[in-house]
Amino acid sequence: MSIISVNMQAVEQAIQAAAEAAGRPRAAVQLLAVSKTFPFEAVLDAMQTGQRAFGENYVQEGVDKIAAVAAAAPGTALEWHFIGPIQSNKTRPIAENFAWVHAVDRLKIAQRLSEQRPAGMAPLNICLQVNISGEASKSGVAPGELPDLARQVALLPHVRLRGLMAIPEPETDAAKQHLPFARLRLLYEQLQAGGMELDTLSMGMSGDLAAAIAEGATIVRIGSAIFGARRDATADKEHA
Ligand SMILES: *Cc1c(COP(=O)(O)O)cnc(C)c1O
Repeated sequence: MSIISVNMQAVEQAIQAAAEAAGRPRAAVQLLAVSKTFPFEAVLDAMQTGQRAFGENYVQEGVDKIAAVAAAAPGTALEWHFIGPIQSNKTRPIAENFAWVHAVDRLKIAQRLSEQRPAGMAPLNICLQVNISGEASKSGVAPGELPDLARQVALLPHVRLRGLMAIPEPETDAAKQHLPFARLRLLYEQLQAGGMELDTLSMGMSGDLAAAIAEGATIVRIGSAIFGARRDATADKEHA
């Protein structure tokens, strides 16, 4: 068995345990395997375990990988999620190649994605990224501006607003990991109470998936726990 299959089993067990501890069904949490910086062969490996949803952060790398996987495993339906920051001049390949986009934080990006979504494809599923860490992070809509943005995005014809996403500041103390996730969930429930039909809370990564599931995550985005360590953060950035 490959290392990736072994890791997939461990992640699956961690998700099951966290769901059980939270009194939630396993099926309420989707595992998104984040394959950024890893070659397409790693995706093929994860597919051996039945995994079908994959996340990418960089447009060109993602588009190339989608094509390489499709060529190597023709006929297998996969669900590709774009989870990285989005520059407005790079929306077209995202709209044309992905099923989901997680980090939309301004109207202009959502408008371009909607305009550029090819006719004949299902609406592009969108999550709004919320800045729940305040000054510490630059990306994400401020909580106070979220309701307006959500209302405007929900009106666009070729995208479908599914929910919210956040990337909290890294926190190794498990007890302290809950607060930002609980905050995101509250914002989500407030939008639902206002009449929006949302079903997705995209939160939780390799280091904090249990806390995220306890607070209601419906998608956890897991990279290093499945594929191994990436090159350091600087290399990650240069890659963007
Ligand atoms: C890289 C990345 C992940 C996965 O992070 P790991 O800590 O490797 O699990 C999840 N979400 C986003 C937005 C990322 O950029």
